[in-house]
Amino acid sequence: MKFLAKTLVFPLVAAIMPLTACTPTGGSKEPGAIPSASEVVASAAVASASPPAASTAGPTGSERAPIPGGFKRAGVEVVQDDFVVVGIVDLAPGEVALVDAGVAEDAGPVLAALSKRGLGVDAVKAIFLTHGDFDHTRGVSRFPQAQVLALDADVALVEGRAAKHPGREAKLTGIKVNRALRDGETVELGGVRFEVFAVPGHTPGSAAYIARGVLFMGDSAGTSVEGKLLPGDPQHTVDQPLNRTSLRALAERLAPRAAEIEAMVMSHTKSTERGLAPLLEFAAANKD
Ligand SMILES: [Zn+2]
Repeated sequence: MKFLAKTLVFPLVAAIMPLTACTPTGGSKEPGAIPSASEVVASAAVASASPPAASTAGPTGSERAPIPGGFKRAGVEVVQDDFVVVGIVDLAPGEVALVDAGVAEDAGPVLAALSKRGLGVDAVKAIFLTHGDFDHTRGVSRFPQAQVLALDADVALVEGRAAKHPGREAKLTGIKVNRALRDGETVELGGVRFEVFAVPGHTPGSAAYIARGVLFMGDSAGTSVEGKLLPGDPQHTVDQPLNRTSLRALAERLAPRAAEIEAMVMSHTKSTERGLAPLLEFAAANKD
C-alpha cells in the first residue's frame, strides 16, 4: 500500500504546480488536465495502457493528438508516464539512457518497462533532459547513479535555481545536472550517438536530440490528429516566436539528413513515424 499511497499524492502536487509546466496536451485547465488518482494508479501499473489525455485545440485550430500509449522501434522504447512520455534508448546489453525522466516521482512507468526486460534502476546510465519543466524531471531523483545532461541554458531551471516565468519564485529541485550541453555537440554512450540541438523558445534551454534514428522534440513541438507538426503549446511556451524560429532553423539543419530520421517523438502528443516530413512541412508552411 505504500506505493499506492504515494501515487495518490500526485494529483495534489500536480494541482499546485501546473503553471511551471505543461498540462496533458498543453491546453487550458479543462477537466481531465489533472489526472485522477485512478488514472495515475493505472498508468503506474500498466505504463502503456494509461488513458489518453483529452485533446485541446492547438494554435492553428488543429487538435493536438493524444499520446496513444507506448511506442517501440529498434533500440528505442517510448513509455507513457501519464500525460508525458519518457524515451528509453538502448546503449548496450543491460544499459540504457533515458530522454527525460517523466512526471512520476517514483518513475513507476519507466521502472515497469525496464522490469519487463529484467532490468532495474541501475540500468539507467544517463538522462538527457529536453528541458527543465518538472513534468520531465521529477523522475530523475529515482536514478541517482545516472548522469544528468541538459542544455546549458536550462541547467538553472532543472536545478530550480531559476523560475520559468518572471516574477515566480524558484525552488530547488534537488537535481544536479552533471553535464551542461551545447548546441551541436554529440555525446557518445555505449557506441550510441546522441546529437544535441538547441531549440530555444518553449524554455531558453529546450533541446532536441537525435539518437538511433529518432528525433526527440520534447515540448518544442506536438502533433495534430492529422499528423501535422504543431509548435510548442502556447500556454506554456515562454517565447512563441522564438519557438517557431527554432523549429524552422532545425528543419533547415536537418533537411540534408532527412533519410536518417525515421521517427519523431513529442513529449505530450502522439509520436510520428513519417520521418522528418512533419518538421519539413511545418517549415515550408511557416516561412513568415
Ligand atoms: Zn511538458
